[in-house]
Amino acid sequence: MSENMINLKIDGVSVEVPAGSTVLQAALAAGVRIPTLCYMKDANELGSCRICVVEIKGGRGLAAACVYPAADGMEVFTNTEKVRASRRQTLELILSNHRMECPTCERNGDCELRRLAADMGIDSIRYEVEDLEPQLDESAPHLVRDNSKCILCRRCVAVCRKNQQVGVISAADRGFATHIESAFGRGLGEVSCVYCGQCVAACPTGALTLKRSIDAVRAAIDDPSKHVVVVPAPAVRVGLGDRFGMPVGESVQGKMVAALRRLGFDKVFDVDWAADVTIMEEGTELVGRIKAGEKMPMFTSCCPGWIKYMEHYHADMLDNLSSCRSPQQMMGGLVKTYYAEREGIAPEDIVVVSIMPCTAKKFEVSREEQRLENGCMPVDYSLTTRELSDMIAGAGIMFGLLPDEAFDPVLGDSTGAAVIFGASGGVMEAALRTAAVVLAGDDADVPLVFEDVRGMEGVKEAEYEVGGVKLRTCTVSGLANAEKVIRAMEAGEAAYDFIEVMACPGGCVNGAGQPMHSPFERMMTDVKGERAAGLYALDDSMPRRRSHENPEVKALYAEYLGEPCGHKAHHILHTEYVPRDTYNV
Ligand code: SF4
Ligand code: SF4
Ligand code: SF4
Repeated sequence: MSENMINLKIDGVSVEVPAGSTVLQAALAAGVRIPTLCYMKDANELGSCRICVVEIKGGRGLAAACVYPAADGMEVFTNTEKVRASRRQTLELILSNHRMECPTCERNGDCELRRLAADMGIDSIRYEVEDLEPQLDESAPHLVRDNSKCILCRRCVAVCRKNQQVGVISAADRGFATHIESAFGRGLGEVSCVYCGQCVAACPTGALTLKRSIDAVRAAIDDPSKHVVVVPAPAVRVGLGDRFGMPVGESVQGKMVAALRRLGFDKVFDVDWAADVTIMEEGTELVGRIKAGEKMPMFTSCCPGWIKYMEHYHADMLDNLSSCRSPQQMMGGLVKTYYAEREGIAPEDIVVVSIMPCTAKKFEVSREEQRLENGCMPVDYSLTTRELSDMIAGAGIMFGLLPDEAFDPVLGDSTGAAVIFGASGGVMEAALRTAAVVLAGDDADVPLVFEDVRGMEGVKEAEYEVGGVKLRTCTVSGLANAEKVIRAMEAGEAAYDFIEVMACPGGCVNGAGQPMHSPFERMMTDVKGERAAGLYALDDSMPRRRSHENPEVKALYAEYLGEPCGHKAHHILHTEYVPRDTYNV
């Protein structure tokens, strides 16, 4: 046994684990899954719900396995009568104070509470069940809170505070009156929430659910006077398959396109095409700022959660954000201008529906500064990957049996640089691929892959020498990490030229609109890493892997926009930002 390892017994099975492991981790190493509810690895390790209790030989009472340290020589029993009785009592008490409407709850397919009750064989509740009314907060554009389904696990509070450093929700009052609420008792839409939705992704029950636009989209599809264009984001194609039993991270791009056609959309274009356009604009903007030495460092602007964070918490740095709209908004803008003019369709008769891994995009589509000169909003409805999966399942489409189909030309043709936008580091790498060629003058000695910006670490620093220019880059995901980087810059401890920030840890592959995975599933599978790997595999398979090589994007500039960052591009593809404070949301 090495020095840093300890040996203990779980239900009579010997297991060796690193010193510092918890009993929960040791049990997993022994092949035993101890049930949990409040536990989220690295984010919420409180031992407060007491579902994970175990008996320890020689110990006093029951111990919460998620926080109890494993020790050398320890003997743990996870399935005794005492343990089962305690867990059952705890769960029955939780259920007695939970508004159960399982058949009509949005989480009925993936509710951890329901799953736990089934696994523990709960077929009755011995306590008086509270007759609860819904306790709704519908003030935010992306989610609905219903505290009558809240089990006070505090997972949402932990991710909002620790991972995102926003901290606009917390537990209020004490004892039976304890409940989760937004800052100052206001609605979530009335405080400085950035709409990332990570709290929804953390919630084990239907207490936090996404706002849905499925009915409005179906109505648009059924309206013969409307031309309905659907545009899925890069990360959707490596998340959607989860719902239909595909391996985590496997690209289902072809089946996704086939499903969208069968749902009745008139055109199936690809946000990847607009991601290539984004690189033309953002790369040009970066090179221009470097040459002028102005507004440096430049931050990416693809993520609306990050944008809203900057508007609330660092309004003095808004000039450092790229002025580029996000790919979703560029896509919608070009559909309602370039495509509308090419096809002779009135822009007001076009309905653009985006499919996003993201909840903040639901807010972004309503931002007034995004309105086009022709009076249209670029995107009409932003659905999440989960909403799309519900539409597919609801239409009886047997997803696994679908053939692989291609996007519609021309706004469906993209490069490998675009598809990696969905992973943390993807926008950075795509921009570097093009900026390096522009700065070097040709692509002869310019690398295609920038390995140092890849991976799931929250902060990745890298320096590149391109065309005689030294470029100091920083790639960040998770807003708490972004805050650390900003503070280091302000303290003079760090300096960069180009910084990519994605609000969701790991980037959009881990967006809150993607199919859900419980903390246990995430301990067993690196969900975001697998999805990112799926995007990089797609990139590898593409014939063109630099955005400026996309012939359809070249044609867009030659026929319609003129120069990147030129006058016309500025109106359709760029935007401005709004300083906000706590109350100005
Ligand atoms: S959406 Fe994001 S910022 Fe808003 S409460 Fe949830 S975790 Fe916090
Ligand atoms: S809203 Fe959900 S995540 Fe937050 S405390 Fe309640 S049950 Fe837990
Ligand atoms: S990282 Fe992606 S999914 Fe998350 S808020 Fe930003 S754009 Fe949305």
